[in-house]
Amino acid sequence: MTPTVRFAPSPTGNIHIGNVRTALFNWLYAQKAGGRFILRFDDTDVERSKAEYADGIARDLAWLGVTPDRVERQSARVARYEEAAATLRAAGLLYPCFETPDELDRRRKRRRARGMPPVYDRSALLLSDEEKAAFEEEGRKPHWRFLLPNFESDPQVPVKTEVAWDDLCRGLQSVDLASLSDPVLIRGDGTYLYTLPSIVDDIDMAVSHVIRGEDHVANTGVQIAIFKALDAIPPAFAHHNLLTTSSGEGLSKRSGALSVASLREAGYEPMTVASLAVLIGTSHAVEPVATMAELAERFDLGSVSRSPAAFDPADLDGLNAKLLHHMDYAQVAQALSDAGVEDDRARAFWEAVCGNIAKLGEVPDWWRVVDGPVEPVIAAEDAEMVAQARDLLPDEPWDETTWKSWTTAVKDATGRKGRGLFMPLRKALTGLDHGPELARLLPLIGRRNSLARLS
Ligand code: GLU
Repeated sequence: MTPTVRFAPSPTGNIHIGNVRTALFNWLYAQKAGGRFILRFDDTDVERSKAEYADGIARDLAWLGVTPDRVERQSARVARYEEAAATLRAAGLLYPCFETPDELDRRRKRRRARGMPPVYDRSALLLSDEEKAAFEEEGRKPHWRFLLPNFESDPQVPVKTEVAWDDLCRGLQSVDLASLSDPVLIRGDGTYLYTLPSIVDDIDMAVSHVIRGEDHVANTGVQIAIFKALDAIPPAFAHHNLLTTSSGEGLSKRSGALSVASLREAGYEPMTVASLAVLIGTSHAVEPVATMAELAERFDLGSVSRSPAAFDPADLDGLNAKLLHHMDYAQVAQALSDAGVEDDRARAFWEAVCGNIAKLGEVPDWWRVVDGPVEPVIAAEDAEMVAQARDLLPDEPWDETTWKSWTTAVKDATGRKGRGLFMPLRKALTGLDHGPELARLLPLIGRRNSLARLS
């Protein structure tokens, strides 16, 4: 069976770096295993799901280099969920309940007060057909619960029922079904909660590995029970730790904090975001990895730590700078050309500036330093020396040795040395007091520009 994974966001907001972690864990797993990656929109919540969010998620994934083999929307598959619900109803495993949220709340409180677990007491199972009909006549619409297999013969008497799985991130896990309420699968308005559609899709789409955040661990026991009730073999599960900010706060899709869109707009490279999202909270060092293929090499579910992974968004800056520093010209050629750097100096320009930029967005600034216009900065006390330097500029062709031979000549002629020699020349040539090595920049600036700036 081809390993098949899915990333299943609800399109109710923009995805953030924590969602990227889940998406990439799935993507890298598929890459490594020669498997398939499904992007599945869990959009059964019609009120909150929006097409623009789904489009945004697809765009964010594409930016990261994730290209799904298949895209599905739960909203288009409701007929399949109806079939599965009918199967469960026919088996007596899906039953109608009429309690209002207030009633349920009161009962939960009562159970708590008596020291009992606040789980649903299954009183709807005791309703006679007449009582159900009476509720319907009153206009109450039932919601439907799945009968958990946690009893011997009497559903009113749950007994300890451990459901266990070997989690690919967390090791052996188990959930006692007696500690849980029968889950609601269908709301009073007939819409589906995420649980049943997710399982039906995982079965229909032959999902072999469910890789998701550890906020779903508790659901897994219930889901395994439903897979079995539908006569299906449950997939393998992996629940990874969640990302938090350095102050320990969780990330929320709705808050927009650290959304992929905002990171993209802030000018970070996709591989910076991907490297941090994948490597933080694992036994690997967090460092920028140049390509998805290399990240796949490093990635393994077993290296994921059990505790939440706190990260400082400011770390992205250092990672991005480091990534660019080691980035080959071929990888940035297009971006450089988009920024207007497209003549035969492009490669040498990149090699000169890549160690000095934190984001690709700074490229035009440095290109302006090379190609102009530059406002030279020449202090009165340096004017004489700069003018002499101008006269000593050699003829072209220039290369990386030109700076050294020229400044040696200037030093001999003016007696200036060290900072007193180099800084006035830098400021005159670039208008700045900092920047890439002038030995590399000077041949790019060229004699004509240099002559103009040194006067
Ligand atoms: N829509 C669910 C979520 O975003 C998917 C969970 C799962 O992967 O099963 O949390």
